[in-house]
Amino acid sequence: MSVLKIGGMSCRQLAEQFGTPLCVYDEEKILSQARAAVENFRSDMFDTEVAYASKAFSSIGLFGMLAAEGLGFDVVSGGELYGAMKAGVDMDKVYFHGNNKSDDEIRMALDAGVGYFVIDNVMECGRIVKLAGEAGRRTRALLRINPGISAHTHEYIMTSKPDSKFGIYIENTEHINRVIDELAADDNVELAGFHSHIGSQIVDVASFEKALGTMIGFLGSLKRSRGLDGMELSIGGGFGIKYVAEDHPVSLGDMCADMIRCAEEAAKAEDVKIAKLITEPGRAMVGEAGYTLYTIGDMKKSGDKNYIFVDGGMSDNIRPALYGAEYDAVLPEKYDEEPAISYCVAGKNCESGDVIIGDIKLPEVKSGDLLAVVSTGAYGYSMASNYNRLGRPAVVMVKDGEPRLIIRRETYEDMYALETENQA
Ligand SMILES: *Cc1c(COP(=O)(O)O)cnc(C)c1O
Repeated sequence: MSVLKIGGMSCRQLAEQFGTPLCVYDEEKILSQARAAVENFRSDMFDTEVAYASKAFSSIGLFGMLAAEGLGFDVVSGGELYGAMKAGVDMDKVYFHGNNKSDDEIRMALDAGVGYFVIDNVMECGRIVKLAGEAGRRTRALLRINPGISAHTHEYIMTSKPDSKFGIYIENTEHINRVIDELAADDNVELAGFHSHIGSQIVDVASFEKALGTMIGFLGSLKRSRGLDGMELSIGGGFGIKYVAEDHPVSLGDMCADMIRCAEEAAKAEDVKIAKLITEPGRAMVGEAGYTLYTIGDMKKSGDKNYIFVDGGMSDNIRPALYGAEYDAVLPEKYDEEPAISYCVAGKNCESGDVIIGDIKLPEVKSGDLLAVVSTGAYGYSMASNYNRLGRPAVVMVKDGEPRLIIRRETYEDMYALETENQA
Protein backbone atom coordinates (compact mmCIF):
# COMPACT_ATOMS: atom_id res chain seq x y z
CA MET A 1 0.00 0.00 0.00
CA SER A 2 1.43 3.39 -0.91
CA VAL A 3 1.00 6.26 1.50
CA LEU A 4 1.37 10.00 1.06
CA LYS A 5 4.54 11.35 2.58
CA ILE A 6 5.25 15.00 3.16
CA GLY A 7 8.91 15.96 3.20
CA GLY A 8 9.76 12.27 3.52
CA MET A 9 7.57 11.66 6.55
CA SER A 10 4.32 9.71 6.58
CA CYS A 11 1.16 11.55 7.48
CA ARG A 12 0.34 9.00 10.19
CA GLN A 13 3.70 9.63 11.89
CA LEU A 14 3.09 13.38 11.70
CA ALA A 15 -0.40 13.04 13.15
CA GLU A 16 0.83 10.80 15.98
CA GLN A 17 3.69 13.08 16.88
CA PHE A 18 1.91 16.45 16.61
CA GLY A 19 -1.83 15.75 16.63
CA THR A 20 -4.45 16.99 14.18
CA PRO A 21 -5.53 19.30 12.68
CA LEU A 22 -1.98 20.01 11.64
CA CYS A 23 -0.45 22.39 9.10
CA VAL A 24 2.48 20.70 7.45
CA TYR A 25 4.98 22.34 5.11
CA ASP A 26 7.32 20.52 2.78
CA GLU A 27 10.37 22.69 3.34
CA GLU A 28 12.06 21.69 0.07
CA LYS A 29 9.07 22.94 -1.89
CA ILE A 30 9.29 26.38 -0.27
CA LEU A 31 13.03 26.53 -0.86
CA SER A 32 12.69 25.51 -4.50
CA GLN A 33 10.07 28.21 -5.11
CA ALA A 34 12.29 30.81 -3.45
CA ARG A 35 15.25 29.74 -5.55
CA ALA A 36 13.24 29.61 -8.78
CA ALA A 37 12.05 33.16 -8.15
CA VAL A 38 15.47 34.57 -7.26
CA GLU A 39 17.26 32.80 -10.14
CA ASN A 40 14.75 33.84 -12.78
CA PHE A 41 14.12 37.34 -11.58
CA ARG A 42 17.47 38.74 -12.72
CA SER A 43 18.44 41.28 -15.32
CA ASP A 44 21.56 42.89 -16.77
CA MET A 45 19.65 46.13 -17.19
CA PHE A 46 18.49 46.77 -13.63
CA ASP A 47 18.70 45.52 -10.05
CA THR A 48 16.03 43.12 -8.91
CA GLU A 49 14.48 41.99 -5.66
CA VAL A 50 12.08 39.25 -4.69
CA ALA A 51 10.13 40.25 -1.58
CA TYR A 52 7.95 37.62 0.06
CA ALA A 53 4.45 38.94 0.80
CA SER A 54 4.31 37.72 4.36
CA LYS A 55 0.55 37.94 4.78
CA ALA A 56 0.28 34.59 2.93
CA PHE A 57 1.88 32.90 5.94
CA SER A 58 4.09 34.72 8.36
CA SER A 59 6.17 33.03 10.98
CA ILE A 60 9.51 33.88 12.46
CA GLY A 61 10.85 30.51 11.33
CA LEU A 62 9.77 31.08 7.74
CA PHE A 63 11.15 34.64 7.69
CA GLY A 64 14.53 33.27 8.70
CA MET A 65 14.45 30.56 6.01
CA LEU A 66 13.56 32.99 3.23
CA ALA A 67 15.96 35.68 4.39
CA ALA A 68 18.74 33.10 4.05
CA GLU A 69 17.71 32.69 0.40
CA GLY A 70 18.18 36.43 -0.13
CA LEU A 71 14.54 37.45 -0.16
CA GLY A 72 13.11 40.69 1.12
CA PHE A 73 9.71 40.99 2.80
CA ASP A 74 6.41 42.79 2.44
CA VAL A 75 4.69 43.59 5.70
CA VAL A 76 1.29 45.22 6.08
CA SER A 77 1.09 45.91 9.81
CA GLY A 78 3.09 46.42 12.95
CA GLY A 79 2.40 42.78 13.79
CA GLU A 80 3.97 41.46 10.60
CA LEU A 81 6.85 43.91 10.99
CA TYR A 82 7.40 42.70 14.54
CA GLY A 83 7.77 39.11 13.27
CA ALA A 84 10.31 40.21 10.68
CA MET A 85 12.24 42.11 13.36
CA LYS A 86 12.17 39.08 15.67
CA ALA A 87 13.58 36.98 12.84
CA GLY A 88 16.41 39.47 12.43
CA VAL A 89 15.83 40.03 8.73
CA ASP A 90 17.64 42.81 6.91
CA MET A 91 15.31 45.79 7.46
CA ASP A 92 16.62 47.48 4.34
CA LYS A 93 14.76 44.82 2.32
CA VAL A 94 11.46 45.33 4.11
CA TYR A 95 8.55 47.04 2.31
CA PHE A 96 5.88 48.44 4.58
CA HIS A 97 2.53 48.27 2.75
CA GLY A 98 -1.00 49.00 3.88
CA ASN A 99 -3.66 51.58 3.16
CA ASN A 100 -4.06 52.87 6.69
CA LYS A 101 -0.83 52.57 8.64
CA SER A 102 -1.26 54.09 12.08
CA ASP A 103 1.09 56.75 13.43
CA ASP A 104 2.40 54.18 15.91
CA GLU A 105 3.10 51.70 13.14
CA ILE A 106 4.87 54.35 11.08
CA ARG A 107 7.03 55.34 14.07
CA MET A 108 7.81 51.69 14.76
CA ALA A 109 8.86 51.15 11.15
CA LEU A 110 10.98 54.32 11.12
CA ASP A 111 12.74 53.23 14.31
CA ALA A 112 13.28 49.75 12.90
CA GLY A 113 14.81 51.28 9.78
CA VAL A 114 12.54 49.66 7.19
CA GLY A 115 13.84 50.16 3.68
CA TYR A 116 10.63 51.33 2.07
CA PHE A 117 7.24 52.70 2.93
CA VAL A 118 4.74 51.93 0.21
CA ILE A 119 2.58 55.05 0.31
CA ASP A 120 -1.10 54.56 -0.37
CA ASN A 121 -2.47 58.09 -0.53
CA VAL A 122 -1.78 61.81 -0.19
CA MET A 123 -2.82 61.99 3.44
CA GLU A 124 -0.54 59.13 4.42
CA CYS A 125 2.34 60.77 2.56
CA GLY A 126 1.91 63.84 4.75
CA ARG A 127 1.91 61.76 7.92
CA ILE A 128 5.02 59.80 6.96
CA VAL A 129 6.88 63.02 6.10
CA LYS A 130 5.85 64.59 9.41
CA LEU A 131 6.71 61.54 11.52
CA ALA A 132 10.04 60.96 9.75
CA GLY A 133 10.88 64.61 10.47
CA GLU A 134 9.99 64.25 14.15
CA ALA A 135 11.99 61.05 14.44
CA GLY A 136 14.92 62.50 12.47
CA ARG A 137 14.90 59.37 10.30
CA ARG A 138 15.64 59.04 6.62
CA THR A 139 13.72 56.49 4.57
CA ARG A 140 12.58 55.68 1.06
CA ALA A 141 9.10 55.45 -0.39
CA LEU A 142 7.29 53.84 -3.28
CA LEU A 143 3.96 55.31 -4.28
CA ARG A 144 1.23 52.76 -4.90
CA ILE A 145 -0.49 53.35 -8.22
CA ASN A 146 -3.76 51.73 -9.24
CA PRO A 147 -3.07 51.02 -12.92
CA GLY A 148 -6.73 50.46 -13.74
CA ILE A 149 -6.17 46.76 -14.37
CA SER A 150 -7.49 44.07 -12.16
CA ALA A 151 -6.98 40.38 -12.58
CA HIS A 152 -8.04 37.13 -11.04
CA THR A 153 -7.20 33.72 -12.51
CA HIS A 154 -7.38 33.82 -16.30
CA GLU A 155 -8.12 37.29 -17.51
CA TYR A 156 -7.33 40.81 -16.54
CA ILE A 157 -10.01 43.39 -16.88
CA MET A 158 -9.40 47.03 -17.57
CA THR A 159 -11.29 48.57 -14.71
CA SER A 160 -11.25 52.12 -15.94
CA LYS A 161 -12.82 52.99 -12.62
CA PRO A 162 -10.70 54.84 -10.08
CA ASP A 163 -12.55 53.37 -7.11
CA SER A 164 -10.11 50.82 -5.67
CA LYS A 165 -9.35 50.89 -1.97
CA PHE A 166 -5.65 50.68 -2.77
CA GLY A 167 -3.32 53.29 -4.16
CA ILE A 168 -3.84 56.36 -6.33
CA TYR A 169 -5.53 55.91 -9.69
CA ILE A 170 -3.06 56.23 -12.54
CA GLU A 171 -4.98 59.06 -14.17
CA ASN A 172 -5.27 61.06 -10.96
CA THR A 173 -2.35 63.30 -11.92
CA GLU A 174 -3.26 65.84 -9.29
CA HIS A 175 -2.76 63.43 -6.35
CA ILE A 176 0.26 61.76 -7.91
CA ASN A 177 1.91 65.14 -8.40
CA ARG A 178 1.11 66.18 -4.85
CA VAL A 179 3.00 63.14 -3.51
CA ILE A 180 5.91 63.67 -5.90
CA ASP A 181 6.12 67.37 -4.97
CA GLU A 182 5.83 66.80 -1.25
CA LEU A 183 8.62 64.19 -1.28
CA ALA A 184 10.81 66.27 -3.60
CA ALA A 185 10.65 69.08 -1.04
CA ASP A 186 11.42 66.82 1.92
CA ASP A 187 14.87 65.79 3.12
CA ASN A 188 13.86 62.70 5.06
CA VAL A 189 11.63 60.69 2.75
CA GLU A 190 12.94 60.00 -0.73
CA LEU A 191 10.60 58.93 -3.51
CA ALA A 192 12.42 55.85 -4.80
CA GLY A 193 9.73 54.71 -7.20
CA PHE A 194 6.29 53.24 -7.72
CA HIS A 195 4.29 50.13 -6.93
CA SER A 196 1.30 48.32 -8.35
CA HIS A 197 -0.43 45.05 -7.51
CA ILE A 198 -3.29 43.89 -9.71
CA GLY A 199 -4.80 40.91 -7.93
CA SER A 200 -4.28 37.36 -6.80
CA GLN A 201 -4.32 33.76 -8.03
CA ILE A 202 -3.47 34.99 -11.54
CA VAL A 203 -2.42 32.06 -13.71
CA ASP A 204 -1.60 33.73 -17.04
CA VAL A 205 1.33 35.92 -18.04
CA ALA A 206 -0.78 38.37 -20.09
CA SER A 207 -2.13 40.13 -16.99
CA PHE A 208 1.36 40.81 -15.64
CA GLU A 209 2.61 41.87 -19.06
CA LYS A 210 -0.27 44.32 -19.28
CA ALA A 211 0.46 45.72 -15.83
CA LEU A 212 4.18 46.05 -16.57
CA GLY A 213 3.49 47.77 -19.87
CA THR A 214 1.10 50.19 -18.21
CA MET A 215 3.41 50.98 -15.30
CA ILE A 216 6.50 51.41 -17.48
CA GLY A 217 4.43 53.59 -19.81
CA PHE A 218 3.59 55.62 -16.71
CA LEU A 219 7.31 55.92 -15.88
CA GLY A 220 7.90 57.08 -19.46
CA SER A 221 5.29 59.81 -19.14
CA LEU A 222 6.79 60.94 -15.81
CA LYS A 223 10.20 61.16 -17.41
CA ARG A 224 8.82 63.32 -20.21
CA SER A 225 6.58 65.48 -18.03
CA ARG A 226 8.70 65.86 -14.91
CA GLY A 227 12.18 64.69 -15.79
CA LEU A 228 11.98 61.82 -13.28
CA ASP A 229 14.05 58.82 -14.33
CA GLY A 230 15.92 55.92 -12.69
CA MET A 231 12.94 54.97 -10.56
CA GLU A 232 12.33 51.65 -8.85
CA LEU A 233 9.25 49.69 -9.82
CA SER A 234 7.47 47.06 -7.77
CA ILE A 235 5.07 45.00 -9.79
CA GLY A 236 3.41 43.28 -6.81
CA GLY A 237 2.51 39.63 -6.52
CA GLY A 238 -0.52 37.53 -7.32
CA PHE A 239 0.97 34.46 -9.01
CA GLY A 240 -1.51 31.60 -9.10
CA ILE A 241 -1.01 28.10 -7.78
CA LYS A 242 -2.62 24.72 -8.36
CA TYR A 243 -5.50 24.04 -5.98
CA VAL A 244 -7.59 21.62 -8.03
CA ALA A 245 -7.03 19.57 -11.19
CA GLU A 246 -8.51 22.29 -13.42
CA ASP A 247 -5.90 24.86 -12.34
CA HIS A 248 -2.97 25.18 -14.72
CA PRO A 249 -0.79 27.98 -13.40
CA VAL A 250 2.41 29.13 -15.08
CA SER A 251 5.28 28.28 -12.72
CA LEU A 252 6.67 31.03 -10.52
CA GLY A 253 10.11 30.74 -12.16
CA ASP A 254 8.62 31.13 -15.65
CA MET A 255 6.47 34.05 -14.52
CA CYS A 256 9.55 35.76 -13.13
CA ALA A 257 11.59 35.19 -16.30
CA ASP A 258 8.74 36.50 -18.42
CA MET A 259 8.32 39.64 -16.32
CA ILE A 260 12.02 40.44 -16.62
CA ARG A 261 11.94 40.05 -20.40
CA CYS A 262 8.80 42.13 -20.65
CA ALA A 263 10.16 44.88 -18.37
CA GLU A 264 13.42 45.07 -20.32
CA GLU A 265 11.55 45.49 -23.59
CA ALA A 266 9.15 48.07 -22.22
CA ALA A 267 11.98 50.07 -20.62
CA LYS A 268 13.78 50.20 -23.97
CA ALA A 269 10.62 51.16 -25.82
CA GLU A 270 9.80 53.92 -23.33
CA ASP A 271 13.44 54.97 -23.04
CA VAL A 272 13.34 54.89 -19.26
CA LYS A 273 15.93 53.69 -16.83
CA ILE A 274 14.62 51.35 -14.14
CA ALA A 275 16.84 51.33 -11.07
CA LYS A 276 15.30 48.23 -9.56
CA LEU A 277 12.43 45.88 -10.37
CA ILE A 278 10.71 44.25 -7.42
CA THR A 279 8.22 41.40 -7.29
CA GLU A 280 6.23 40.28 -4.27
CA PRO A 281 5.01 36.68 -4.45
CA GLY A 282 3.05 35.46 -1.45
CA ARG A 283 0.76 32.57 -2.31
CA ALA A 284 3.13 31.04 -4.88
CA MET A 285 5.97 30.86 -2.34
CA VAL A 286 4.19 28.74 0.25
CA GLY A 287 0.78 27.64 -1.05
CA GLU A 288 1.55 24.32 -2.71
CA ALA A 289 4.10 23.43 -0.05
CA GLY A 290 1.41 23.37 2.63
CA TYR A 291 -1.00 20.59 3.62
CA THR A 292 -3.61 20.42 6.33
CA LEU A 293 -3.95 17.05 8.03
CA TYR A 294 -7.27 16.29 9.67
CA THR A 295 -8.63 13.23 11.40
CA ILE A 296 -12.05 12.18 10.20
CA GLY A 297 -14.54 11.88 13.02
CA ASP A 298 -18.19 11.15 12.58
CA MET A 299 -19.87 10.65 9.25
CA LYS A 300 -23.50 10.99 8.32
CA LYS A 301 -25.88 11.02 5.44
CA SER A 302 -28.03 14.15 5.36
CA GLY A 303 -30.43 14.28 2.42
CA ASP A 304 -28.30 13.12 -0.48
CA LYS A 305 -25.06 14.35 1.06
CA ASN A 306 -22.43 12.07 2.57
CA TYR A 307 -20.86 14.21 5.23
CA ILE A 308 -17.45 13.45 6.64
CA PHE A 309 -16.56 15.67 9.56
CA VAL A 310 -13.00 16.82 10.21
CA ASP A 311 -11.50 18.01 13.50
CA GLY A 312 -10.97 21.57 12.24
CA GLY A 313 -12.81 23.69 9.71
CA MET A 314 -13.31 27.33 8.83
CA SER A 315 -11.34 28.32 11.92
CA ASP A 316 -8.18 26.96 10.25
CA ASN A 317 -9.22 27.47 6.61
CA ILE A 318 -11.77 30.17 5.97
CA ARG A 319 -11.18 30.52 2.23
CA PRO A 320 -13.99 28.21 1.05
CA ALA A 321 -16.51 30.01 3.29
CA LEU A 322 -15.09 33.45 2.56
CA TYR A 323 -14.96 33.33 -1.22
CA GLY A 324 -15.86 29.91 -2.44
CA ALA A 325 -12.26 28.72 -2.77
CA GLU A 326 -11.86 25.14 -3.97
CA TYR A 327 -9.53 22.52 -2.60
CA ASP A 328 -8.50 18.98 -3.36
CA ALA A 329 -7.78 16.32 -0.74
CA VAL A 330 -6.49 12.78 -0.45
CA LEU A 331 -6.67 9.99 2.07
CA PRO A 332 -2.93 9.66 2.69
CA GLU A 333 -3.20 6.05 3.81
CA LYS A 334 -5.42 5.01 0.90
CA TYR A 335 -3.37 6.91 -1.62
CA ASP A 336 -3.48 4.24 -4.30
CA GLU A 337 -7.13 3.27 -3.90
CA GLU A 338 -9.64 4.36 -6.51
CA PRO A 339 -12.00 7.17 -5.56
CA ALA A 340 -15.40 5.52 -5.15
CA ILE A 341 -17.77 7.71 -3.17
CA SER A 342 -18.71 11.41 -3.24
CA TYR A 343 -18.32 13.17 0.08
CA CYS A 344 -18.86 16.59 1.54
CA VAL A 345 -15.98 17.52 3.86
CA ALA A 346 -17.32 19.72 6.65
CA GLY A 347 -15.71 21.16 9.74
CA LYS A 348 -16.80 21.41 13.36
CA ASN A 349 -17.46 25.15 13.47
CA CYS A 350 -21.01 26.34 14.03
CA GLU A 351 -21.81 27.70 10.57
CA SER A 352 -23.62 25.94 7.73
CA GLY A 353 -20.96 27.40 5.44
CA ASP A 354 -18.23 25.59 7.37
CA VAL A 355 -17.40 23.28 4.49
CA ILE A 356 -13.85 22.66 3.33
CA ILE A 357 -14.76 20.75 0.15
CA GLY A 358 -18.36 20.66 -1.05
CA ASP A 359 -18.07 17.58 -3.20
CA ILE A 360 -15.09 15.26 -3.57
CA LYS A 361 -14.73 11.67 -4.69
CA LEU A 362 -12.58 9.63 -2.35
CA PRO A 363 -11.92 5.97 -1.66
CA GLU A 364 -14.32 4.67 0.98
CA VAL A 365 -13.73 6.65 4.17
CA LYS A 366 -13.74 5.23 7.69
CA SER A 367 -13.88 7.23 10.89
CA GLY A 368 -10.31 7.63 12.13
CA ASP A 369 -8.84 7.96 8.64
CA LEU A 370 -6.53 10.88 8.00
CA LEU A 371 -7.48 13.43 5.35
CA ALA A 372 -4.83 15.65 3.77
CA VAL A 373 -6.16 18.81 2.13
CA VAL A 374 -3.56 20.00 -0.37
CA SER A 375 -2.27 23.47 -1.26
CA THR A 376 -3.35 25.02 2.04
CA GLY A 377 -0.01 26.74 2.70
CA ALA A 378 -1.15 30.26 1.80
CA TYR A 379 -3.90 32.26 3.51
CA GLY A 380 -4.80 29.28 5.67
CA TYR A 381 -3.02 29.62 8.98
CA SER A 382 -2.58 33.35 8.42
CA MET A 383 -6.37 33.78 8.28
CA ALA A 384 -7.06 31.27 11.07
CA SER A 385 -9.19 32.31 14.01
CA ASN A 386 -10.34 31.04 17.38
CA TYR A 387 -13.94 30.84 16.27
CA ASN A 388 -15.85 28.53 18.62
CA ARG A 389 -12.69 28.62 20.73
CA LEU A 390 -10.99 26.03 18.60
CA GLY A 391 -7.26 26.36 19.03
CA ARG A 392 -5.18 27.15 16.01
CA PRO A 393 -3.33 24.09 14.67
CA ALA A 394 0.37 23.47 15.14
CA VAL A 395 2.63 24.16 12.16
CA VAL A 396 5.42 21.76 11.22
CA MET A 397 8.17 22.04 8.59
CA VAL A 398 9.40 18.72 7.28
CA LYS A 399 12.60 18.11 5.38
CA ASP A 400 14.38 14.82 4.64
CA GLY A 401 11.99 12.97 6.90
CA GLU A 402 12.78 15.25 9.85
CA PRO A 403 9.98 17.43 11.30
CA ARG A 404 10.49 20.79 12.98
CA LEU A 405 7.67 22.27 15.00
CA ILE A 406 7.71 25.97 14.06
CA ILE A 407 4.44 26.99 15.74
CA ARG A 408 3.01 24.96 18.57
CA ARG A 409 -0.68 24.13 18.86
CA GLU A 410 -2.76 26.78 20.60
CA THR A 411 -3.93 25.59 24.01
CA TYR A 412 -7.03 26.51 26.00
CA GLU A 413 -4.75 28.51 28.24
CA ASP A 414 -3.36 30.46 25.29
CA MET A 415 -6.86 31.27 24.16
CA TYR A 416 -7.92 32.72 27.47
CA ALA A 417 -4.61 34.38 28.29
CA LEU A 418 -5.87 37.83 27.29
CA GLU A 419 -8.86 37.82 29.61
CA THR A 420 -8.67 39.94 32.72
CA GLU A 421 -11.81 39.28 34.71
CA ASN A 422 -13.43 36.67 36.87
CA GLN A 423 -10.75 34.00 36.67
CA ALA A 424 -11.54 31.09 38.95
C1 LIG B 1 -1.35 40.33 -1.27
C2 LIG B 1 -0.27 41.10 -1.89
C3 LIG B 1 0.81 40.45 -2.48
C4 LIG B 1 0.89 38.95 -2.59
O1 LIG B 1 -0.17 38.40 -3.28
P1 LIG B 1 -0.15 36.83 -3.61
O2 LIG B 1 -1.41 36.64 -4.36
O3 LIG B 1 -0.15 36.10 -2.32
O4 LIG B 1 1.07 36.57 -4.41
C5 LIG B 1 1.83 41.22 -2.98
N1 LIG B 1 1.80 42.57 -2.92
C6 LIG B 1 0.76 43.23 -2.36
C7 LIG B 1 0.80 44.70 -2.30
C8 LIG B 1 -0.30 42.52 -1.84
O5 LIG B 1 -1.31 43.20 -1.30
